[in-house]
Amino acid sequence: MSNCLFCKIIAGEVPATMVYRGIDIVAFRDIHPQAPTHILVVPIKHLESVAAMQPGDVDLVGRLVATAKDIAHNEGLAGFRLVVNTGREAGQSVFHLHVHVLGGRSMHWPPG
Ligand code: AMP
Repeated sequence: MSNCLFCKIIAGEVPATMVYRGIDIVAFRDIHPQAPTHILVVPIKHLESVAAMQPGDVDLVGRLVATAKDIAHNEGLAGFRLVVNTGREAGQSVFHLHVHVLGGRSMHWPPG
């Protein structure tokens, strides 16, 4: 998508600190980290959100979670939180599906 920030990051048109680049998934550090470790795991395919998932996307989305787990391990996180904001009301601000990996501090529940 020509007007999507994360598509531009994936294409190398906008700089980001990449921590993983696979065939169909990338991960880069969040520009406004909410925890000592805050990484976004993103499919290369432009998919707006979980709400836009089709049956054919189930494997890809499952592998996003598996990649997030590997990244948390590589970052040395004892515990971590995965967040997938879906829709504006839930706090989604970039409409290209992504999994936040947050760790390195104590987390509270419920989230704000
Ligand atoms: P969400 O609000 O769930 O859609 O998450 C979008 C995330 O993208 C936010 O945590 C932003 O801080 C992050 N973000 C926005 N612009 C950039 C950027 N240029 N590089 C890395 N992360 C970004």
